Amino acid sequence: MVKIDIAIIGAGPVGLFSIFQAGMLGMRCAVIDTLEVIGGQCSALYPEKPIYDIPAYPKIMAADLIQKLAEQAEPFAPIYHLGQQVVAIIKQNEQFIVKTSLGVEIEAKAVVIAAGCGAFGPNRPPLEGIDQYEGKSVFYLVNKREQFAGKNIAIAGGGDSAIDWTLSLAEIANKIYLIHRRDKFRCAPASFSAVKALSQVGKVELVVPYQLKALHGKDGYLQQLEVYDLTGASRNLEIDVLLPFFGLAMELGPIRDWGLNLSQNHITVNQTTAETNIPGIYAIGDIATYPGKLKLILSGFAEAATALHHAYNRVFDGKPLHFEYSTSKGVNL
Ligand code: FAD
Repeated sequence: MVKIDIAIIGAGPVGLFSIFQAGMLGMRCAVIDTLEVIGGQCSALYPEKPIYDIPAYPKIMAADLIQKLAEQAEPFAPIYHLGQQVVAIIKQNEQFIVKTSLGVEIEAKAVVIAAGCGAFGPNRPPLEGIDQYEGKSVFYLVNKREQFAGKNIAIAGGGDSAIDWTLSLAEIANKIYLIHRRDKFRCAPASFSAVKALSQVGKVELVVPYQLKALHGKDGYLQQLEVYDLTGASRNLEIDVLLPFFGLAMELGPIRDWGLNLSQNHITVNQTTAETNIPGIYAIGDIATYPGKLKLILSGFAEAATALHHAYNRVFDGKPLHFEYSTSKGVNL
């Protein structure tokens, strides 16, 4: 059991800034996110897009903003639990037990929910029994490219991820089947030309327009992937691995079951404290709503300051907060 002052659910920009706010007030944080990387929407949806409305940055790439937020949080030694979803929050006396999908349990004095629009997860193809193969021969992310050396790989999808991984894995795989339901791909023309060149030498086979139909294998290991064309005719591909790249979905998920007051998939909070209907649980950033709410990163930053200043009293058993500017307090960098 990890014991901590504040459990932060969500490592998006607002969750990351909360670590700094908490740290300046002497509170240590654990941060949990379903994604394997920090940054929330900035990392998952638009890392290379410039943001123009972050105060003091006339223009900053989303990925750079996340890197700077992580740097600002670092002196306060946050504990990151990535690649796992918070599935439950249980109140125990005056503490909260935060449980994750990987079985981690965190005991916290207060909880800050900075969960955006909900947890990010891959869009999973609706194939019967796919869960038996996940992690053994079906993967939604490539963590270790070398694990696919010498394999016959089916890559499904029509966007940049499908094309980019086809080009990268073609260097080490035995053969790649690139499956898409249309014969047009959403990618840079140069990348598609490179895939075409690989198909001419037989390294890549374009399986278009085809859709996924069924998985065949044993003990979680794929042997064949059944696909079908527009006429419904099917064919079997001999493969070891399937990599579906159908984008990310955001799902409020277990947050619905935590007894929080919700309004149209958002958590309602008291704007003056950022506290939810459960004392000690705060909601900030895109997930939080109140009259006049603006879904902007800068609003989330201000809400983080409000929430953590209010949580101080609870974390330090009613000790009054002596407000100080960062310029007076300083940070040991
Ligand atoms: P998010 O960034 O959504 O992060 C929430 C995190 O919580 C996610 O990583 C998610 O996986 C995690 N999570 C959720 N539920 C759980 C759970 N149960 N367990 C574990 N983890 C969980 N805003 C601006 O201010 N300026 C802009 O110019 C701008 N441009 C944008 C452009 C695009 C294309 C998009 C999509 C958004 C843009 N935004 C912009 C909006 C901005 O990205 C969001 O307001 C911001 O990301 C919200 O931050 P957050 O930390 O509240 O949530």
